[in-house]
Amino acid sequence: MWDKKGEDISFNWFYKLKERLLEEQQETEFSGERESTEALAALSDEELVKYASARANKCNSMGNISVGNPDKEKVEIIQKALADAGANITDPAGTFGATTLMATIAAQKQTGIRTDGCVGSETIEALKLPFKGRPQPKNVSIGTGKCRYKKSGNTRRTRELIQSSGFDYTEGRKGRIKIDPQWQRENVVRIKLHTGKTIRIHRQIATLFAKAFKEASEVSGYAPRSVQTQVARHILWDPSKPVSNHSYGMAIDFNPRENPYGMDTGKIREYPEFINIMNCYGFLWGGDWSTPDDMHFEFDVTRL
Ligand SMILES: [Zn+2]
Repeated sequence: MWDKKGEDISFNWFYKLKERLLEEQQETEFSGERESTEALAALSDEELVKYASARANKCNSMGNISVGNPDKEKVEIIQKALADAGANITDPAGTFGATTLMATIAAQKQTGIRTDGCVGSETIEALKLPFKGRPQPKNVSIGTGKCRYKKSGNTRRTRELIQSSGFDYTEGRKGRIKIDPQWQRENVVRIKLHTGKTIRIHRQIATLFAKAFKEASEVSGYAPRSVQTQVARHILWDPSKPVSNHSYGMAIDFNPRENPYGMDTGKIREYPEFINIMNCYGFLWGGDWSTPDDMHFEFDVTRL
């Protein structure tokens, strides 16, 4: 479609939408959180525009191009390609405004790619633009069709279940604990990951984790070197807090330095497909919590 110039593409839906948007200046309902490709496919055109607007800063900050992008040269190239394909753009040349956004979403829809209004490598390829985008995660479908991806599972229930099958322990130094060695022998195994690194993890999720981590890394391009699994300690190394799920070998921290606790700025956020795939395998992401823990995943044992 888009590799031929001058092909007739219907942009009717967005002309109508534009009229409506001009009539009623509605507030955005999107927080700027990333939605899955499937969720976007279910949105109305109007909702897509709102979503894309709410995500524009994130899109631009990740090296891609959307509303308000200051790179006038690239925006102009995008506008020209969209106009060549039939879009009527009334934003000034070089200004990524409302009509450029609507035309971008229309083009993404037409070519069957992610309709996020963010010009990244997929859209650059679809529009045959003469520059490169930041490498983007490939589209993923988990082969088995068994992926029960939920943005956040039942964290509280998971905690209860993990801790109810718990061990005896004694307090160690600085928030550490000493676990009953018999429990340790019966429940925790050492496995080698595809990276060559050996980790200690709960027997029940060892194989699953290795598989999930390999797939998430390979598909998303995010390959954290630091993978911290079982550490016998209290939450946040604070003896007044409960024992951490890390003690049970049921939680994993990836590259703590670049994914710091309590902040929503983790490097991992640049690789949403990594998070999606881990989620698909049943690992809940700490970045979804009200106090974000971007480095952290823990297994949703309610799925076992
Ligand atoms: Zn953690």
